[in-house]
Amino acid sequence: MKLLNKKAIVTGGTRGIGKGIVKELVDNGCSVIFTYHSSDETARKIEQELSTETAKAFGFKADASSFAAADETVKFALEKLGGVDILVNNAGITKDGLLLRMNEQDFDLVINANLKSVFNYTKAILKTFLGQRFGKIVNISSVVGIIGNAGQANYVASKAGVIGMTKSNAKELASRNINVNCVAPGFIETDMTDKLNDQQREAILQNVPIKRLGKPDDIAKAVLFLASSDADYITGQVLTVDGGMVM
Ligand code: NAP
Repeated sequence: MKLLNKKAIVTGGTRGIGKGIVKELVDNGCSVIFTYHSSDETARKIEQELSTETAKAFGFKADASSFAAADETVKFALEKLGGVDILVNNAGITKDGLLLRMNEQDFDLVINANLKSVFNYTKAILKTFLGQRFGKIVNISSVVGIIGNAGQANYVASKAGVIGMTKSNAKELASRNINVNCVAPGFIETDMTDKLNDQQREAILQNVPIKRLGKPDDIAKAVLFLASSDADYITGQVLTVDGGMVM
């Protein structure tokens, strides 16, 4: 168990990659507060499904776009778990469209959910991490934040922003023993990529040397590594987990 008795916050933990991350952390002895946006019922099911004898998972309803809700999440985590060592900024959405059709609201929604959320949660946890002179922050970006993608100006801007913020925060916090890194997934089988049609899937696979889409577990294992003491000398990095798509 790589994270025995550690405590974490994972944003967006009820589905897909986030749920995979919560499972991986709990299975490695780390208790987790995961946030979600919509279904209380799903959150309660996941608490039961993922909690073990050694470590627990608790859901907390909080819109990651909200600065105030990030503070409330941290307060809840400190009360419920007695501390926080790890923050995983995973929550994210897409509102795709070509530039001509993309409206202001869809641009703002994506930037707030994907990029401002990272600022919200990093700010909210910072005093705790600075006080204990320890913290691991893992931000979930995307390979499209590195290479761009037509029809995703809002999403790509948010994910490139996450990479920039990761590097800035890593430089600012390294001397305080706080590591900040980033995982950039390729195309992973989740509700987010369920929207792709067969033609789009085929086109993606043409560019993936390991000829399959990724699984949430592939990302969760990279997050576990960066959140563990195995990665103590790594900060400000972007680890692409994409079957070799971007190299
Ligand atoms: P997903 O299946 O759509 O799940 C998204 C999760 O985030 C859900 O638990 C959802 O909660 C939560 N969430 C969404 N908006 C939220 C908000 N405003 N506040 C709190 N929680 C919110 O997505 P995914 O595919 O697992 O993606 C997870 C992360 O990986 C995202 O940052 C995404 O951009 C990134 N990523 C995904 C892929 C991919 O191929 N799937 C590739 C690269 C990067 P509710 O269920 O309550 O709405």
